[in-house]
Amino acid sequence: LGEHFMLKITKFGGSSVANATQFKKVKGIVESDPSRQYVVVSAPGKRTASDNKITDLLYLLDAHRQYHVDASNVTKIIRDRFLSIKNELGLKQNLEKDLDEFFANLAKMNQAEIVSRGEYFCAKLMAEYLGYAFVDAADVIRFRMDKTIDWDATTKKVQAKCAKYDHFVFPGFYGSNANGQIQTFPRGGGDISGAILARCINADIYENWTDVSGFLMADPRIVKNPEQITHITYSELRELSYMGASVLHEDAIFPAKEKNIPIHILNTNRPQDKGTIIQESIEGEQPYAITGIAGKRGFTSILVYKKHMSNEVGYIRKVLSIVEDYNVPIEHIPSSIDSFSIVVADSDVEDILYEMVARIKNEIKPDYVKTKSGLALISTVGRNMSAKPGTSGKLFGALGSNHINISMIAQGSDEMNITVGVKEEDFNKTVQVIYDTFVTKEKK
Ligand code: ASP
Repeated sequence: LGEHFMLKITKFGGSSVANATQFKKVKGIVESDPSRQYVVVSAPGKRTASDNKITDLLYLLDAHRQYHVDASNVTKIIRDRFLSIKNELGLKQNLEKDLDEFFANLAKMNQAEIVSRGEYFCAKLMAEYLGYAFVDAADVIRFRMDKTIDWDATTKKVQAKCAKYDHFVFPGFYGSNANGQIQTFPRGGGDISGAILARCINADIYENWTDVSGFLMADPRIVKNPEQITHITYSELRELSYMGASVLHEDAIFPAKEKNIPIHILNTNRPQDKGTIIQESIEGEQPYAITGIAGKRGFTSILVYKKHMSNEVGYIRKVLSIVEDYNVPIEHIPSSIDSFSIVVADSDVEDILYEMVARIKNEIKPDYVKTKSGLALISTVGRNMSAKPGTSGKLFGALGSNHINISMIAQGSDEMNITVGVKEEDFNKTVQVIYDTFVTKEKK
């Protein structure tokens, strides 16, 4: 069986549908493979770095509506963007009327409905341009009232649409609840819509077309010309994207993973590139001992010290329950005999750090509490690390000989990643040293 008999979901992100030129690229890609029957689109994104995303403009429009400010400036930009695509491609639908109606009815709409119109209008244009049917996500993706996906209802609807139409275009980012109200996914959630469709039809592959040729082993703003990751497992990708490598929405992985559907990241502007394939397990030799490096700045560690702490049952729990009272998610808890640290994101403790520390001091009475901000966390991820002895030795050795002080170490229990905490000023250098150690010096 060739590629042509595959059941595929093909999703294009915002920059792939940003203007008429991008629409033409999409058409070329879709028409070059007959199995690209079901196409999902985002709303038009940025054409240049300083441009606006339609979805951002729609949020802005909603804010104007909410505060009763005249929004004609914003509606004009949105209108012009969509009409220029329609006119440049010579499409016939009465988009002018649809847009007028939309802008006239803003007062009756909620935020989700307003911001969903970016993908809605984009999908209508794309459907006409490709000669495919338009299928509204509101009729297909069903949310329960608790905002989770109703898989039974959604699967039935998706399958029914696929039975009815050989080809369709589907707007990403939204669905509807049992009351018929529009509900959106988190920002960037068009990727989730595509993954849901793929799961519902048990697709052979979920293609996700964007503006980069997949994942790189490190951030190209830090490492010059990093190597491409051609194959990565879902779990490795989870680790890397949690730590800041962003190409695909994190929540798009679960639906695909459940049915073991490979996700293929591809570049609309360079369709000849191989891209990155994300799947459950990967056979064969891996080029390097690690798969990738990612990291984030902006962490604070709170060290709690008490002599003979390890003899006191329930001590850590008492401290953690205070942190929990403030609703602060915890990244890591490195510990030793008489102390442990809680590593949290600065953004989660901005307003409450001192209050929370004061409570820990008053209620738990440790010998002392020390907070340290300006921490960066860097994860080195690789499915083969556990099998290869010496990986962590090599990592720490390299950082040490480059005078990078490690203030925290955490290794995942699945031995698939090693995370180090360093000073924010050492962030770039750390990524570079790890890359050089495991990639540059190992290049064959
Ligand atoms: N248009 C939506 C956003 O910007 C969803 C997406 O692009 O995936 O968040």
